[in-house]
Amino acid sequence: MNLDEYRRAARDWLLENAPKDDSPDIAQAKDFMARLYDAGYSGITWPERWGGQGLTQAEERAFAAEARDFALPTYVFSIGLGMTGPTLVDRGSDEQRERFVRPLLRGEEIWCQLFSEPGAGSDVAGLQTRAERDEARGARGDSWIVNGQKVWTSVAQHADWGLLLARTDVDVPKHRGLTMFVVDMRHPGVTVRPLRDMTGRAHFNEIFFDDVPIPDEHRVGDVNDGWSVAVTTLLHERLSISAGVGMSGQKDDPTSLEALRQAVDTTDPLVRDELVELHVRSRALALFNQRLAQETRAGLFPGARGSAAKLLLAELTLFRADLATRLVGPASVVGDSPLAHAISLAPAMALGGGTNEIMRNIIGDRVLNLPPEPRVDKTVPFKDLKVGTQG
Ligand SMILES: Cc1cc2nc3c(=O)[nH]c(=O)nc-3n(C[C@H](O)[C@H](O)[C@H](O)COP(=O)(O)OP(=O)(O)OC[C@H]3O[C@@H](n4cnc5c(N)ncnc54)[C@H](O)[C@@H]3O)c2cc1C
Repeated sequence: MNLDEYRRAARDWLLENAPKDDSPDIAQAKDFMARLYDAGYSGITWPERWGGQGLTQAEERAFAAEARDFALPTYVFSIGLGMTGPTLVDRGSDEQRERFVRPLLRGEEIWCQLFSEPGAGSDVAGLQTRAERDEARGARGDSWIVNGQKVWTSVAQHADWGLLLARTDVDVPKHRGLTMFVVDMRHPGVTVRPLRDMTGRAHFNEIFFDDVPIPDEHRVGDVNDGWSVAVTTLLHERLSISAGVGMSGQKDDPTSLEALRQAVDTTDPLVRDELVELHVRSRALALFNQRLAQETRAGLFPGARGSAAKLLLAELTLFRADLATRLVGPASVVGDSPLAHAISLAPAMALGGGTNEIMRNIIGDRVLNLPPEPRVDKTVPFKDLKVGTQG
């Protein structure tokens, strides 16, 4: 099938299968993902061997372009599709890929990402959640016991599995004593408490781990090499956030150019100026994302430039929310309208996946080769640092 045929087939499928219901529940969202996967539209570029379609970015983009016109219930799968799944494909064992990737792509299992803690967000390598070998407690040593707390964990209230970064050695510098695991979110000892944010909804959660066992087969990468696995996840996170992976189409976005054109007086030259600015910024980001996607396809990993794409998207989201507030006026933020929700959610984009300041630090350090931030904690054993609740 050539690309035009692929695109037409995708459109026909979406017309027939995109949910008509405005706010489908989790069961309906899972049902939709299963049909999306069975039709060949989930994991379009993922390796066939692990359940993907093994196609190219061209098909992925063609599908995404069609999907923009529909409100698809994929948000709850966005962490799995954009972050934890690609990490397992890149860094997991064959057994882990075999076990987890297909159910993730088919929406049978929902994933969350357990990195941030109350004392470790931007400085995530300073985290304190401990994973200790079971043998330290006199058992056989083929599993780990986890204790600690995570926070801001998106979609965890629905998750079956979590990708967990935990401290396994306190006697070495902070980046060298971390290990990555897959944790069963339904296991006794895992407590998930939704947190209500300023939109009035609960997008994220706080999680408590009390003596939660994890089998060693669920360790991702080597013991104490969790930081390099986390860097893989964070690179995927920034790229997928900026590319809108798992996000619904723009059809119902009340701050999109199309929606604002309907809502405001477009004969006013000042308003037209603002809308042109919005168009130019959106187009520039779309082209930048397209370039990163093509480079990735050609084997050139975008690395820290993914941080630039994420920063541009955060700035664009804030610009759109500010523009909508100014153009629509006070009515824009009254009640629980979709526009009020989009405006109050906009600042989250400048925090989740790394704050704008951290993105600028990364760009300065690794894209522009400016002198790095002074770091006093690179050589000190973690247990001697004053971080979180320690020290
Ligand atoms: C909507 C949303 C969803 C999220 N989902 C998840 C998730 O699923 N899983 C997960 O693990 N985490 C998640 N997070 C957490 C997110 O990664 C953190 O909020 C983020 O990394 C910032 O950490 P912090 O909140 O602890 O702020 P802090 O790190 O305490 O930062 C506070 C302020 O200081 C600034 N700052 C800190 N260090 C520096 C520095 N070196 N240079 C300059 N400025 C600095 C920051 O930019 C910020 O303005 C989510 C957050 C949001 C908002």
